[in-house]
Amino acid sequence: MSPRARRRTLIVGGVAGGMSAATRLRRLDESREIVVLERGDHVSFANCGLPYHVGGVIEDRDDLVLQTPESLAARFALDVRTGHEVVSVDRDRRVVTVRDRHTGRLLEEEYDELVLATGASPLRPPIPGVELAHALRDLVDMDAIIARLDGPDQPTSAVIVGAGFIGLELAENLAHRGLSVTVVELADHVLPPLDVEMAAVVQSHLQLFGVRVLTGTAAAAFEADAVVLAGGERIPAGLVVLAAGVVPESALARAAGLELSERGGVVVDERQRTSDPHIYAVGDVAVKRDAVSGEGVLVPLAQTANRHGRLVADAILGRPVSARPALGTAVVGVFGLTVAAVGWNERRLREAGRPHRVIHTHPQHHAGYYPGAEQMALKLLVDPDTDEILGAQGVGRAGVDKRIDVIATAMRGGLRASELADLELTYAPQYGSAKDPVAMLGMVADNLAAGLTRTVQWHEVDAEVARGATVVDVRTPEEYAAGALPGAVNLPVDDLRERHGELSGRLLVYCAAGQRGHVAARLLTQLGHADVVNLDGGYRTWQPPVDLLAASGREDSTLR
Ligand code: FAD
Repeated sequence: MSPRARRRTLIVGGVAGGMSAATRLRRLDESREIVVLERGDHVSFANCGLPYHVGGVIEDRDDLVLQTPESLAARFALDVRTGHEVVSVDRDRRVVTVRDRHTGRLLEEEYDELVLATGASPLRPPIPGVELAHALRDLVDMDAIIARLDGPDQPTSAVIVGAGFIGLELAENLAHRGLSVTVVELADHVLPPLDVEMAAVVQSHLQLFGVRVLTGTAAAAFEADAVVLAGGERIPAGLVVLAAGVVPESALARAAGLELSERGGVVVDERQRTSDPHIYAVGDVAVKRDAVSGEGVLVPLAQTANRHGRLVADAILGRPVSARPALGTAVVGVFGLTVAAVGWNERRLREAGRPHRVIHTHPQHHAGYYPGAEQMALKLLVDPDTDEILGAQGVGRAGVDKRIDVIATAMRGGLRASELADLELTYAPQYGSAKDPVAMLGMVADNLAAGLTRTVQWHEVDAEVARGATVVDVRTPEEYAAGALPGAVNLPVDDLRERHGELSGRLLVYCAAGQRGHVAARLLTQLGHADVVNLDGGYRTWQPPVDLLAASGREDSTLR
């Protein structure tokens, strides 16, 4: 290697992780040579905004391009080369080979440190005709989708394969453009990061807005104007978009002999260093340490890529930094609903055999007496032995992101679930409640941990009835008449002191959301009923998944 006056850092990939690394490195070290090699024609663009330009919400395409090579050269003295694809890494010589995609020329570039920020590419399942399907990763993909939508034979229908975050964002945006949209999802419900009872709310919301949702369904073939499902149904589709997940773009790392995980992510240490001490990896291509299990995990999210991009610059310069385990905090908007999650869901905990306690609530996003209060559904997962918060989910029209962010912060800080009860959060009637929804979750966690209350889950009701429990609806007669659990007797909470003598044996009490049920359970217990359980989250938690199961004809589904 020829002697150089300045240290030289090469960064492969110029979007979230790569550009965060480059700019931070410059802010800390004016003397170093920093070269960003980006295969595409754009750097620092807003992938997360792409679906919203498809739908016309972000009107100006230029708003998606946050920086250019020229602006980055002017402010940060970065040597940013678009249209430059790194095709191999010679680790011994510390040299990469780069193809200039405009001229086809190959050239070599030396490095002292190499940062791989190559991201993840959309999964393309080996299905006949898959080449006919679009995907959405970058501006080129977005332009192709828009060209199809605006083309001479403007499609009126679209099929989205995959009901994850990107799939649902696309579904909404295509519906906004007036297309008839079908979403095909292999899993049993939309948004697999959520549990079924939370996803059920989103699923019926999608249907309310005219989106056809086919879960537990595989696409078997793509044709020019249709998608053929595994069951044989042929769905007309002028546009097909694959949104079935992403895979780390790690071919370069693999060819260079770097250690990869089973799922193809580049294995890094807590300073983002790969198995080669001169090579680092950040963003979607890199494996993170999972906050709940401590194991390697892929978390393809922008904020993680940005944080680790910043961190790797510090690591390269020898600052004492260390990546924190990843929580996977995520949020998505679906036709006015906000859906957010952090940590593990119940299904994953169950499959891993990890003990957990479940709490559902349905609070208002601000004081109920102040106009405009919107109800949300929250779910908290707690380790029953340690009180550790394992995960949370929220669905609602307003205030959901704030609650999940607070819980994510609590998890990051190592707060126990019961400690949420004691958080001092802002309150005025138009913003929250004196007992904030997060604090309420903490109070329920505290009651459960202390054994002051016992709960059963929505999917345990049938078993309770089978074991002889009397189901007691403690809501008003009007609420009861509007819909109740099968076989429930109605005994309003306010009448229990007088009428509790009518009850005996094991009692399963429930109300709309769990709160009056808790009051009833406490009262009945103190009145001498020894075996009382409350339906966690009440009727509002029980009903959506039961409706979903009934609609899908799956009475006793694996969904539970
Ligand atoms: P990328 O942003 O993918 O950048 C990698 C770059 O590396 C690419 O530009 C690629 O061309 C380049 N590259 C790859 N190989 C080479 C090579 N050999 N040589 C040169 N260049 C190469 N995350 C969220 O947290 N919230 C959201 O709302 C959200 N919405 C999204 C919506 C869409 C449509 C998409 C596609 C993603 C969304 N994400 C979202 C995910 C988020 O965009 C990614 O997690 C993030 O961009 C990852 O950053 P990265 O730097 O690792 O990879």
